[in-house]
Amino acid sequence: MEFELWMLLVFPLFFAMGWLTARMDLKELLSESSLLPRSYFQGLNFLLNEQQDKAIEAFIEVVQVDPQTIELHFALGSLFRRRGEIDRALRMHLNLVERADLEADKKKQALFELAQDYLKAGILDRAEQTFQQLLHSPYAKESVEFLLEIYQKEKDWLKAIDMSRRLVDLTGQSHDKETSAFYCELASYELTTGRDEAARVHLGQALEVNPGSVRAVIMLGDIEQNAGNHKQAIDLWKRIEQQDPQYLQLAADRLLGAHRNLGLEADGIDLLMEYQKRYPSQDLVDVLFKAVLQKDGAEAAYQMVRNELHRNPTLLGLDKFLEARLLEVTEKNRADVEMVKKLVHQRIRDLAMYHCSSCGFRARQYYWHCPACHGWESYSPRRSEENGGRI
Ligand SMILES: [Zn+2]
Repeated sequence: MEFELWMLLVFPLFFAMGWLTARMDLKELLSESSLLPRSYFQGLNFLLNEQQDKAIEAFIEVVQVDPQTIELHFALGSLFRRRGEIDRALRMHLNLVERADLEADKKKQALFELAQDYLKAGILDRAEQTFQQLLHSPYAKESVEFLLEIYQKEKDWLKAIDMSRRLVDLTGQSHDKETSAFYCELASYELTTGRDEAARVHLGQALEVNPGSVRAVIMLGDIEQNAGNHKQAIDLWKRIEQQDPQYLQLAADRLLGAHRNLGLEADGIDLLMEYQKRYPSQDLVDVLFKAVLQKDGAEAAYQMVRNELHRNPTLLGLDKFLEARLLEVTEKNRADVEMVKKLVHQRIRDLAMYHCSSCGFRARQYYWHCPACHGWESYSPRRSEENGGRI
């Protein structure tokens, strides 16, 4: 690009425009700041010097001197809540809610903040009442989410189901898995009070919402089994294969037990062997090992575990193989096998865990409701090694 004379004029022009704009902004800022009390700037200074406590005191003074500083009220209120000073947050937000001159939208914002203070303070009934007042406000979605959290804490599953449905209407996102889990919780409660019929109804509702609910099918089978209807229980648990065969192992013990009750133990073992062929899983091998050992003795159990290890070589399988080996080993070699078994067992403890796919929490037992993140059905039915070896 060639240099032209007119460019000489453009640069000063840009410079002048920038200077003018800066002056105008500065003027505006100065006129605005002259309206603010001195404590406001003191507060800012304290904040910049990372003296939070002094900053808060200064800002409180601003709020007392100039009640119009609504945004500062909100900022301070939520700061108090974050710092765990719930009493102060509550006072700040209650003061806003009770002000007669507050615009309607600001009043709703204050109520929303107040409800969160109650929740954080553990005053669940007040939090619930306050969030309920916001169900038709711009804070509806967040309020429903908080209410859902409250009803789960209170184990009020009917209300949790209602909120879950509202959330679907508000967000368009599916909550079927959670809603179905709430029905299972309702059923579980009914079972503890001996109301099997009511439990059956809720489990039917769980399956209506989420036909893939393995938990509902397992629980329905349990009701039949307890009522002595072993055949019906078996038919129900067999449905898991269509839902998701990875979960079959969770019903393996039950299937075997129901077959035994019918005097058909061999059929039960055959069924599990068939599942193991199609969907290999160490949990199935464990159940089969016990069953074969009890029915056909140590040699048969050892051969079964050995075959499965060949077919599906995993460390969990090796651990089981060594356990089976100990049943057959001669006295002379026993100490060696025991030593190897102990070593392998120690090294693979983490591989034998179930883990939550949402938060990664690991547990020896299977959970439908994660005790760490409170996610529903977030656990894979496979143990870590079989689930990609994540430890
Ligand atoms: Zn979790």
